Amino acid sequence: MGNPPPHNTTEGNNTIGIEVADSGTRLTAKHAASGTIHHRRLAAPPSPDEAIAALNDLLAEVIRDDAAAHPQPESLGVAVWGDVDPTRGVTRGMPHTEGWDNFPLAERLASRWQIPVFLSPAVAAAGLAEAISGAGQRHRVALYIHSGRTIASALIDEGVIFAGASGRAGKLAHWVVSPDGPRCACGQSGHLDPIASAQSIVRATIGLASGSDESTAAMLRVSGGRAEAMTVRQVVQLAEEGDPSARTVLERAWDALAVALVNLVAALDPDVIILGGPPAEAGDGFCQPLRDRLAILCGSWRPTPDLLSGTLGQRAALMGACLLPSHQRRHR
Ligand SMILES: [Zn+2]
Repeated sequence: MGNPPPHNTTEGNNTIGIEVADSGTRLTAKHAASGTIHHRRLAAPPSPDEAIAALNDLLAEVIRDDAAAHPQPESLGVAVWGDVDPTRGVTRGMPHTEGWDNFPLAERLASRWQIPVFLSPAVAAAGLAEAISGAGQRHRVALYIHSGRTIASALIDEGVIFAGASGRAGKLAHWVVSPDGPRCACGQSGHLDPIASAQSIVRATIGLASGSDESTAAMLRVSGGRAEAMTVRQVVQLAEEGDPSARTVLERAWDALAVALVNLVAALDPDVIILGGPPAEAGDGFCQPLRDRLAILCGSWRPTPDLLSGTLGQRAALMGACLLPSHQRRHR
């Protein structure tokens, strides 16, 4: 545990934060001063122009509803669950839809609303919120690991996101943990994603359990008869009850994650590692075995950083969006 960091720990009150999720079909916004959440749902992944139209509509609603009680926003923070270059304020890609490569999202919103716009990968925004207001409070350098459909990370150094040269820092999905491991969606073998992402953990458990009547029955029991909707927390529950399929899958995932983490610790020297996404919902049931492995791999040459579950849950990215203007350099 380090000394309290010197950074500002409040959301910018004159900021509106926006989260763009589910390939652009789910837009969420809140004025940091009011905390009221506003939503838009789109029927299909939008083109960039369709997304801009929906975002402008949503922003108009937030400003109109909050106008009486709260100041006009002086900045926007936008967290995108897609591929973005925060230093240039552009998107590079959005899953399941076309036209997002090199799209000037920040500039388009800035020219419409005449205020500065700060763009960030949602994982980095979520990590920023956890570092400032969640599990990472009182730590200086936080390494945030988000595991869901894929695994990505963000490094928050004294309240500032490390963006890298092109915004591609932290693509842990393709971190090599064992060259002869299973094939990744990218086509290469041995990457972290197919072994340890939340989605891979659930899928691998379903696959392995289907070979055993006992495991299948246990899986259906914990998931309420819907194995395809099983969560990492339920896989952890199965393992704790002694199910060998869940145990095997989780041990592979913990081993692979621990190898990736010990190398990241050597390179980046964080004093806390924060897990976000579905594994965090499993709490110490997921964290403690990973903590034990990390301590063994760190050995005696350095103290093992704290390894904690995130405390902000699904609110983290939107909270982080509100913090971007006060904690991120403006795009150029
Ligand atoms: Zn890969």
